Amino acid sequence: MALMKITEPGVSFNDRSTKRVIGIDLGTTNSLVATVKDGSPEIIPDKEGCELLPSVVYYGDAKQVSVGTDALKFAESNPADTLMSVKRFLGRGIDDIDPETSMHNVTSTSDGVSFVTAMGEVNPIQASAEILSTLSRRANQSLKGDIEGAVITVPAYFNDAQRQATMDAAQVAGLNVIRLLNEPTAAALAYGLESKEKGLIAVYDLGGGTFDISILKLHAGVFEVLATGGDTSLGGDDIDLLLYNWLMEDIGIGTADLEFSMRRQMLAAVKVAKEALSNSESVVVDTSFVKAHKTEVKITQDILTSIISPLVARTILACRRCLKDAGITVNDIDNVVMVGGSTRIVSIQTSISEFFGRELLSGINPDNVVAIGAAQQADILAGNASMNDILLIDVTPLSLGIETMGGLVEKIINRNTAIPVTRAQEFTTYKDGQTGLKLHVVQGERELVKDCRSLAHFELFGIPPMVAGSARIAVTFQVDADGLLSVTAREKTTGREASINVQPALGLDEGEISTILEASFSNAEDDINARKMVEQRVHSRHLLDSLAAALEKDGDGLLNDSEQSEVRFLMDKLENVLLSKEIEKIKDATESLAKKSEYFAMLRMDRSVRDALKGKSVSELSEEVGS
Ligand code: ADP
Ligand code: MG
Repeated sequence: MALMKITEPGVSFNDRSTKRVIGIDLGTTNSLVATVKDGSPEIIPDKEGCELLPSVVYYGDAKQVSVGTDALKFAESNPADTLMSVKRFLGRGIDDIDPETSMHNVTSTSDGVSFVTAMGEVNPIQASAEILSTLSRRANQSLKGDIEGAVITVPAYFNDAQRQATMDAAQVAGLNVIRLLNEPTAAALAYGLESKEKGLIAVYDLGGGTFDISILKLHAGVFEVLATGGDTSLGGDDIDLLLYNWLMEDIGIGTADLEFSMRRQMLAAVKVAKEALSNSESVVVDTSFVKAHKTEVKITQDILTSIISPLVARTILACRRCLKDAGITVNDIDNVVMVGGSTRIVSIQTSISEFFGRELLSGINPDNVVAIGAAQQADILAGNASMNDILLIDVTPLSLGIETMGGLVEKIINRNTAIPVTRAQEFTTYKDGQTGLKLHVVQGERELVKDCRSLAHFELFGIPPMVAGSARIAVTFQVDADGLLSVTAREKTTGREASINVQPALGLDEGEISTILEASFSNAEDDINARKMVEQRVHSRHLLDSLAAALEKDGDGLLNDSEQSEVRFLMDKLENVLLSKEIEKIKDATESLAKKSEYFAMLRMDRSVRDALKGKSVSELSEEVGS
């Protein structure tokens, strides 16, 4: 695959005066900010020396918004106003939210969801902006001046809506985003693996809310992302929930019987226990605050291991799929980088090390590694770094395409294509004299539009009326370095153009990304058959429609009665078999009709040539032929 150098508009690679730039890991659970000082990256702590900023925002009263640990204090007393895991809601709709797992009162709005708090409605972009502002202020103070640019990381699986929502949050926070960077890519950079000669690297990132696996290829100091995979709804939060369910069963209380604040308190206790288990064999959870027959519960390593084993198995399944996408096997991997707080769990380390058959790279604190890589990337893009030859090639997580006749998808950019990327394809008109074209941009792996995700609709007008199939419309898909998509349609003779920047209204269903991939594998054969069927029907319908129009216009003049009725007989026959689902019969009937009408088509052609010849000089004609 060809490598592209990623340069950012407005960022000079030659300007060597040091710019104040930062890297931000905007996490579901925790967020961090880092910068490169005198060539070495460091996390910027708050005044108390804390590096992790809990991604929590409290909207308690009209005057004060609290962020981080200050906000977390209200989690128990005032859970509805204490927004947590807002990243899960970025760029998503009300239908994506499972009321069982959501601790917040959410309401549907025209552009997604909002949380209902004491301060009124707050959307996920505003809440994320509060987190970004807090980190930005922290950096301003530490670096003694305004921040000129930031690299913000996002999970590799974020779709366009989610990436756009992140950009919007940054804008609200007054940050100049140099670029969005996939979290696993940042982690590989943090490990400085570019100093090695070459190698294949797997980045396993299990955080609070998402799981990402990426396969990176390193050669001659260049990183290339071969493939990414994962699950947008798998992380420490889910481990907490599993452990919570187990514990509630153990003490004999139905999960729904606990009131909101107690449930939250219990979840918090379970989380503390889980984290403590990475340093000890067993922990005891105090359950005396709920009325149960047990006042405490002991949780051992073994219990945790067995509770989370289905979840770990799911991550391994995603790893296998990603290796397959990258076209390599587990034995080809040279390094495995562990990222995210949940990778501290001992049994996860054991399982993953076993799966890859090697020791894991976990030298850098798994909480910090993404922010550090982001800071290094910001430093390079701002031109501060002495080595600006590291290229990061990211990929598109899902295929992007356009709807064609009959509800089929024509993929323009395949999934796992390195970005930034521009791909163009030519389309034409279906009907004679057609002057407009509706474009429907979709995302997904399936063959039929109905099985894919709709991203946007737009229209191109002013196509000069021409015979069906002779207009040439170039449709260009461009994905920039931040993963944002713009689609342009251009009619070639007039240069008329229409375009759209895709900001899909709402995001995907919970877990849809992974099911999209699973569905595309399990339905592959059906999809191909369905596609063939639709293509055949479109072809047959087109033949019928154009013949009907031609008969109407020229039938009487060019064919005698029996010739006409023979054609009409075969047309009726084709109309009838089209009602069936038997593709072979439809194909045969179409072929017979095409054959029978060949003679008619030839007569029409002859006549139009004769008409064209009338009153024209030979030189005019040869000019036309030659043009
Ligand atoms: P995110 O990237 O989603 O913000 P982080 O990488 O900060 O998440 O990881 C947060 C998750 O890691 C939380 O679910 C937290 O409970 C979990 N975690 C942190 N430390 C440990 C630990 N020692 N053992 C198990 N899980 C941990
Ligand atoms: Mg993370």
